[in-house]
Amino acid sequence: MLAILHPDTPMDSDAYRTTLNFLENLPGVSVHVHEIQGATQRLTEVYLLGNTKGLNKEDIEALSAVERAIRISEDYRILGRHKDDNRQNGFIYNGVEFNQSNLNIFAGLCAVDVPEHVEQMMQALEQHGEVCTRMGAYKPRTNPYSFQGHGKGCLPWVFEKAGKHGIKVVAMEITHESHIEEIDNCLEKLGRPTGVMLQIGTRNTQNFELLKAIGRQSTYPALLKRGFGITLNESLNAAEYLASEGNANVIFCLRGMKTEAGQPHRNMVDFAHVPTVKRLTRMPVCIDPSHSVGSRDRAPDGILEVMHATAQGVVAGANMVLVDLEKALVDGPQALLMNELPAYLEDIRLCHDTWKKRQAIYKTVKDSMAK
Ligand code: PEP
Ligand code: MN
Repeated sequence: MLAILHPDTPMDSDAYRTTLNFLENLPGVSVHVHEIQGATQRLTEVYLLGNTKGLNKEDIEALSAVERAIRISEDYRILGRHKDDNRQNGFIYNGVEFNQSNLNIFAGLCAVDVPEHVEQMMQALEQHGEVCTRMGAYKPRTNPYSFQGHGKGCLPWVFEKAGKHGIKVVAMEITHESHIEEIDNCLEKLGRPTGVMLQIGTRNTQNFELLKAIGRQSTYPALLKRGFGITLNESLNAAEYLASEGNANVIFCLRGMKTEAGQPHRNMVDFAHVPTVKRLTRMPVCIDPSHSVGSRDRAPDGILEVMHATAQGVVAGANMVLVDLEKALVDGPQALLMNELPAYLEDIRLCHDTWKKRQAIYKTVKDSMAK
């Protein structure tokens, strides 16, 4: 059971105290309080876990601080959608909104190499009005002798350049808990010129200790990549680990599945799951066409397959695109070229508009069936 308190209920109010006191004394029930700071108000959700079958929804709703109660299913308690659950989805981070209706593009470097390339990239993004990017500093590589990323050494100049070019959010994969502190210390020292979204790579989707560490902090939102060899349910549960530790600002990223059947693509593109993740959870959904397709092969219509895959995900309602751009020391063969960026951005906007129009078309059908 989930009890949602009236917005902005002060924690030192009588209503809050008596309500929490009542809930905490329910036999066999443990209480987990979750605070969400929205754009205009603070919401408090109180999760009642354990022996909740005997609880009466009306009794909980009668408590003075409670606005409404929702009976939640076992799966994805915090991030999931439940019956009669019209809670908000998404969050605002560093002035950028992320939700299940809008779209943000994170084009950038798979791995940061030299300052000149970062400068060129961010300049191009700024010119096109983009305020987000991806920059890899800690790279998990299959081969131990491959370039592993510059690590914390590149953070100062990457963050400074981001700030200089108006980049508000940098998606950056971390592979160890200590990287959170490295990023935080560096940003703090520089006066927080930009923001960071902590990316959890597909090889770490079920690294539960890393998930818990990222979940324990709420300064940075998280971008969780789907595990490439596990079920969707298992990956969604991994996302729930972040939320269960306190950080529900999570974006779920589809990046393809590892199977020979996907060839000649690097992975089997799984963007048909975009609407599915939105149906099962309240997370904004990201697609990573670069790591899914993994090549610059061009279809006879003149359009790269990686662009076609992007279109498929965005037309189906994706909320974020994470894509590799040229100058990458890692994954160069799959990266888009800088001069392809304007057309690509235009294509993505067209697809996002198409998704909105598709909703309008089907709404008339849905409305006529409801009559
Ligand atoms: C990446 O985004 O650079 C990356 C390593 O992705 P994945 O974890 O999906 O392989
Ligand atoms: Mn990569």
